[in-house]
Amino acid sequence: MRAVKLRNKVSLRAMSNKIDTKAFKRALQHSDNYHRKGFGHEAEVTGVLNTEYQSNLIQQIRDNNYQLTRGDVTIRLAEAFGFCWGVERAVAMAYETRQHFPTERIWITNEIIHNPSVNKRLREMDVKFIPVEQGNKDFSIVDSGDIVILPAFGASVSEMQVLNDKGCTIVDTTCPWVSKVWNSVEKHKKKDYTSIIHGKYKHEETVATSSFADKYLVVLNMKEAEYVSNYILNGGDREEFLAKFKNAYSQGFDPDKDLECVGIANQTTMLKSETEAIGKLFERTVMQKYGPEKLNEHFMSFNTICDATQERQDAMFELVEEDVSLMVVIGGFNSSNTTHLQEIAIERGIPSYHIDSDDRIGPGNKVEHKPLGKDVEVKENWLPEGQIVVGVTSGASTPDKVVADAIEKIFELKSLAAIG
Ligand code: SF4
Repeated sequence: MRAVKLRNKVSLRAMSNKIDTKAFKRALQHSDNYHRKGFGHEAEVTGVLNTEYQSNLIQQIRDNNYQLTRGDVTIRLAEAFGFCWGVERAVAMAYETRQHFPTERIWITNEIIHNPSVNKRLREMDVKFIPVEQGNKDFSIVDSGDIVILPAFGASVSEMQVLNDKGCTIVDTTCPWVSKVWNSVEKHKKKDYTSIIHGKYKHEETVATSSFADKYLVVLNMKEAEYVSNYILNGGDREEFLAKFKNAYSQGFDPDKDLECVGIANQTTMLKSETEAIGKLFERTVMQKYGPEKLNEHFMSFNTICDATQERQDAMFELVEEDVSLMVVIGGFNSSNTTHLQEIAIERGIPSYHIDSDDRIGPGNKVEHKPLGKDVEVKENWLPEGQIVVGVTSGASTPDKVVADAIEKIFELKSLAAIG
């Protein structure tokens, strides 16, 4: 057994210049120090998770065709919202890890998911977060023999290398949908294509995804994609291009050479319709430039849009068609998929409030919320007088209990207003 461990270690060290990420991942997965399944404590953990994160009120609303009226307030819940299976799986694995290693030091490379209540609970279980010094994670604090959890949106190859080299036990909760994107990027790399990643270049998932690419460019939205498409077709100012996408491309990226062959990848939580449209845009661009018969020599795309993101966005599109007075979108302020749900409400001109917990509501008729792209601010008299319909949805990392607490607060506020 020791010989196998050493062999794994040596082979991974030999790759520490990080050329062959695929081989690195494969070797890591065969290492005895690497776990990507639970530890056999599912039953106990499921019970605990249900108690901590589920809610009877939400079940009641679901059973009542996703709506509930109390007094002047009707709540309309989106038909798909909240915890996705990738998040549930990651949280369950983190709980199992604590149970399986009751006395060891356990670290997590990042918030396991973007939800403050879940991350707080993990801290209470003495799962420590790797400290960040001036924007860089300080792994010097981690000792060999420590347990390190990788979150649902993954970790970069260099982080995995550091942890492996230190001899840590790695518990990898990366969602399989995210791994699927990494596999696409590996395919781009194999053919020497540049990966065009639809995402936010600073988001942990996109950082991890881009670490698997040799050449990449991150585009945030359709506007940026159109700029790149135009550059492919007509050329342009190279310096302007590089300044515009500063920090969003791989080292040495040259727009004059590295956009001849492109593959599409995505941060799984971006707006699905936009990811699809960006893929189509580049497909058309390449056809226009090289001719349809050369498409496969210059373009690659795989379907890597996660079902959960798609379902939550589709349910939101249905909800905004209804006659709702306002929309409450619940999720971490740094949660990309939550932000995209709010964008849908904004596009329809519906007043919407992004909050991360019920603590943001009240006291009195006020809410502390985060308008899209702005800092948190307080809105007074946010609940209109009289009968109202409140649309409610939540991001993929928000437990039902957090949603239920927010709904209870809204009922309470309106009932107090009625008495007052
Ligand atoms: S939103 Fe999708 S990709 Fe992200 S954790 Fe959930 S299932 Fe996985």
